[in-house]
Amino acid sequence: MPDSTKKDILVVGNWKMQISLKEGRELAHTLETEITDEEGKVVVCPPFTQLAAIKANIHKIHLGGQDLFWETTGAYTGEISGEMLREIGCEYVIVGHSERREYLGETDLMVGKKMRAAKRSGLIPILCVGESLLQREKNQTLEVVERELLAALEGIDASTNLVIAYEPIWAIGAGQTVEPKEAEMVLHYLRQLISKKYNEKTASQSRMLYGGSVDGENVTAFTNQKNIDGFLVGGASIDAGEFIKIVKAAM
Ligand code: PEP
Repeated sequence: MPDSTKKDILVVGNWKMQISLKEGRELAHTLETEITDEEGKVVVCPPFTQLAAIKANIHKIHLGGQDLFWETTGAYTGEISGEMLREIGCEYVIVGHSERREYLGETDLMVGKKMRAAKRSGLIPILCVGESLLQREKNQTLEVVERELLAALEGIDASTNLVIAYEPIWAIGAGQTVEPKEAEMVLHYLRQLISKKYNEKTASQSRMLYGGSVDGENVTAFTNQKNIDGFLVGGASIDAGEFIKIVKAAM
């Protein structure tokens, strides 16, 4: 009999621009061998140039892009559309990662367009929101994540499959996580906002992730929090042993 208290868990590995094609292939092979697909979903987000090769070697784990452009086709040098990601086998796409907001100048408006493009192309967007250290010190965390969430959901309807990752910018790649109770509080707040904008059903079906220096050791402190449905993992996702530990702890 299915356990109704069991959560629908999602663990996403963001490989960023960290590993070669050869390393990516090996990593995917290890994950495919070690991870079962019974209790939740594992998604890997390799660089664009590795998507096809990784797709050809995975059956249980799922594929996501690290970004997308908001147009379908056209003269947009260097960009990749959601439709192109779909055609290569992606089901997910990361949208609004803080590294893109910081280094590529992505604004809330651009993030909103990317969310609508993901929806249009049939991809499930993994929306990243989170405050900087300065904003945190000024007690602006909830204000910042609320602004980022609502801007991103502009024009997105209630039927959309939503994945929201709370990623405090100061915790990303820093070897330092937020307190699990604080992550829970922020994700609870975001779920309430989704409920207010749409309805209770959409809110409860949204998958709320925590991201920021999660590893095989600290992950267990987060797994019992009610509103944490999984993790977005950067650094530890390119270490097969660490990532597998996170997946097993989360599931
Ligand atoms: C990320 O960049 O989304 C992330 C969570 O990175 P890390 O796990 O390395 O902090």
